[in-house]
Order: sequence, then structure tokens, then C-alpha cells
Amino acid sequence: MSSTGIIFNIQRFSVHDGPGIRTTVFFKGCHLGCRWCHNPESRSFEIEEFNGKSLGEKYTIDKLFSEIEKDRVFYDESKGGVTFSGGEPFAQSDFLKEIITKCKTNEIRTVIDTSGYVDRNILKKFVNITDLFLYDIKLIDPVLHLKYTDISNTEILSNLDYLMSQKANIIIRIPMIPRITATEENIKQIRDYILKYDTKPEINLLPFHKIAESKYKKYGIKYQMINSTDLTNDQIEHFKKIFAESGFNIKLGG
Ligand code: SF4
Repeated sequence: MSSTGIIFNIQRFSVHDGPGIRTTVFFKGCHLGCRWCHNPESRSFEIEEFNGKSLGEKYTIDKLFSEIEKDRVFYDESKGGVTFSGGEPFAQSDFLKEIITKCKTNEIRTVIDTSGYVDRNILKKFVNITDLFLYDIKLIDPVLHLKYTDISNTEILSNLDYLMSQKANIIIRIPMIPRITATEENIKQIRDYILKYDTKPEINLLPFHKIAESKYKKYGIKYQMINSTDLTNDQIEHFKKIFAESGFNIKLGG
């Protein structure tokens, strides 16, 4: 039976969410509470109302697929496709599986952008049907991870181990949050964690910026990064070098 999902945005012509030109579908709902979240309106699993406007909309598989298919010509020309992001797409796993399967049947390439916080038995169902995982790694220290995201990283790191063992196609994305994730210690810990694998996944560093602050104001959510400043170019170059010196292919942004 076809399921329904709650989507809060569909963004066309994305070039930072995987290869080529992509349509990014943002799923509503996330179990994490990252202090720096750029999409605070994505966290609740409910359709919310703000100033007479709905945040989130119910989609059937057919309705979502027809939106995705509209951009097929751009996917074909650029080797792009569709990216499922959020929120956390795995939090609506039945709907996600159904739409990915439909895309695969129709030869549209798929990417899942995930926090990695997903039950292993669910993740297993996606290994062979997803073309690429954009996998966020935030903090290696479990205490700091819990402190800044409200969730332990045990399952997230273990799921990364699993995907790497399955030779899944993975790009690791690191949000570079000043004084939280973008510290010498954490970046070196992430590098060392990933170095244990047989292959070296591409690393994307995602520098923090305060553009999300206005969204927090708009939706009446407390912004916890008020005192943060952007990283300098020198700091970013330094962190890039830590990975580059160990032979990682590293990019800024997605
Ligand atoms: S995992 Fe992503 S969507 Fe969820 S709270 Fe963190 S930054 Fe926001």
C-alpha cells in the first residue's frame, strides 16, 4: 500500500546536495536537536501553522514523484538526480523507501542526506537502492555529541562503520561550528576515526554561517548560536589541511 509523507520544502536546481543538478526534497521531522540547525522549522514531525501558512505538506508517492520527475531533463544532462534531506529522511523510512524504489525503477539517481541516526534494520534496506549517502559526522566525543545534539553518537558512528563495510558510496559531511565541531581536537578525532577504513571517503566541510538566525526569529524559536562568529579563511584552510595531509579528497561545501 502506498504511504504518505510530510515534506516541508522542495528545492529545485540544487548544486550542493550531491552530483550534478538536483531536486532536494526536505522531509519534516528530526530526532536531533543540533544547536546550529539551519532548518529549525524542519524538526517537528507535525504540520505546523505560522501566520496562516502551513509548514509542511502531506505527499503521496505519486504526487512527490511527479514533482521529482519535472526536472528529469536537468538530471540527465548533469548526471544529477534527487536528494532526500530534512529534517531526517530516515525518520519517515517507509515513505522514503517507497519513493527511492520508484525513482530507481524510473532511472533517477538518489542521494540520502542523513544524520546517521537510524535503526540498523532500517538502514540495511537502503544500502542497495541508494546511489549515494551524504553522511553527517558532527562530534566524536560522545559527551559533547549528547550535549550539543541531544543524542548520543554511538548508533551514528556504528552505522557509518556498517555502510563503509558494505562499500556504500558515501561522502562525509562535517558542519564546521566554531568552538563546537570546528576544533583542532574534534577534527583530528574525526580524521582518525575515518582513517581506520580501507577506503577514504570524500570529505565535505560545511562552514557555519548565521543566515539561519532570521528563521529562528520568524518562527519564535530561541537561537542558541547568537554569540558565534564565522570561521576565518585561515581557520578553514587549516582544517582542510588536516584531512588533505592524510590523503583525503576534501571540498568546501557540498
Ligand atoms: S540533524 Fe540536521 S535537521 Fe536534525 S537538528 Fe541536526 S542539523 Fe537540524
